[in-house]
Amino acid sequence: MLYMFIIAGVFTGVAVATVLILSKKKHQKGGSKGTDHALAANLQDEKVKSEIILNSIEDGVFLIDEQRAIQLFNPAAGVITGWDPKQTLGIDYKSVLKFINEKGEPYAPEKDPVNIALTEKRTVKDNQASLATQAKKVLSLAITVSPLLDAEKNVRGAVGIFRDVSQERQEGQKRAEFVSTASHEMRTPVAAIEGYLALALNDKVSTIDSKARDFLEKAHESTQHLGQLFQDLLTSAKAEDGRLTNHPVVVELSSMLESLTDGLKFAAQKKALSVEFVLGAPNSVIDASGGNVVKPLYYVQVDPDRIREVITNLFDNAVKYTDAGKVTIGLTGDTNVVQLRISDTGHGIAAEDTQHLFEKFYRVDNSNTRTVGGTGLGLFICRKIVELYNGRIWVDSVVDKGSTFYINLPRLSSDRAQTLMHEESSQTSALGSK
Ligand code: ADP
Repeated sequence: MLYMFIIAGVFTGVAVATVLILSKKKHQKGGSKGTDHALAANLQDEKVKSEIILNSIEDGVFLIDEQRAIQLFNPAAGVITGWDPKQTLGIDYKSVLKFINEKGEPYAPEKDPVNIALTEKRTVKDNQASLATQAKKVLSLAITVSPLLDAEKNVRGAVGIFRDVSQERQEGQKRAEFVSTASHEMRTPVAAIEGYLALALNDKVSTIDSKARDFLEKAHESTQHLGQLFQDLLTSAKAEDGRLTNHPVVVELSSMLESLTDGLKFAAQKKALSVEFVLGAPNSVIDASGGNVVKPLYYVQVDPDRIREVITNLFDNAVKYTDAGKVTIGLTGDTNVVQLRISDTGHGIAAEDTQHLFEKFYRVDNSNTRTVGGTGLGLFICRKIVELYNGRIWVDSVVDKGSTFYINLPRLSSDRAQTLMHEESSQTSALGSK
């Protein structure tokens, strides 16, 4: 609560400071002397207030202009990064805020939260960022960057707020290690119980009466659920501390999705739901079944097993939370982005729930979900996997009408895809000849 208040305070303070910077220019151009005087006194007042806020909070705050040069760097930002705030003024933010990935390399532009906020004109939150300080010490950072837009929606700069979360992240890592060890240890005996129950239920190996069969079927179902829970816990713990196995290769999504849809159909058919695969924008003229139309190729660089896991998860949810109608898997894109969508005609999700949906263990609390089993980990795992590839996942939903889950992934041009595929095959043949 206090943190929310501080954030609200900081953004108000920064907004005041921004207005001050912008209005200073106007002020210099002229105006009546009397009103100027009153305005100056008022602004001075506001300036003092915003300075008090910016100087006293423990979160780092910075403001950059449209040329990406730092215009404001509060004392806490200086303490966290090791930079003297005065020395940062006028410098390109990249020289000061050195975001690095887990290999210690600088962030690619499409992962840099400041760059994303400026280019995509949206607020970006990154709770998994790492930053090299001036003394080259690596810190874990939680950062939020918002673009500053003028009345015509042109980007005039960006404002960011960040916190050193190294200690929290270390503690989180220890917790994740515990969960992953515990779930791994528990999964093994559960698998054995499940196996023996399956043998007991198998007519060819066991003879049981109908009452015993009924009990064992229930036990088998619960054990399967428990096994799934441990598996999800293990995957989410791995996703949290970056230990998810990940072997990205070039994947052409339209062919992958087409064959995946075929495999997934059966689960939907059990509930009499129809399944459709649509290539191109919704209502597009491109015919997914072939015909004479040249199908666009949507190349991305991902681990096919991981992305299949995401699609299967979203598809299973669509089936799980839909009683009648259809599930549609769609694929479209532009030059830079491939967009995948999975729509259903099911229960839908209320707006107050959609914002929490991708958090760990979040399940919508209503009669529909209470009767349908689940762990609340599926969408969290999906988000973690999509973020691994610098992608984004979100949902649009209307209660009682249905939901559409979207995934945006960076698109590879056909040329780039061919080059990468060529590199992949020469690496594989080099490994094979060793
Ligand atoms: P779960 O194992 O509970 O399905 P998920 O993380 O996959 O966990 O989903 C979280 C919650 O989001 C679900 O409990 C459900 O309430 C809601 N949900 C997910 N997908 C859909 C959907 N297609 N339609 C309606 N509700 C959904």
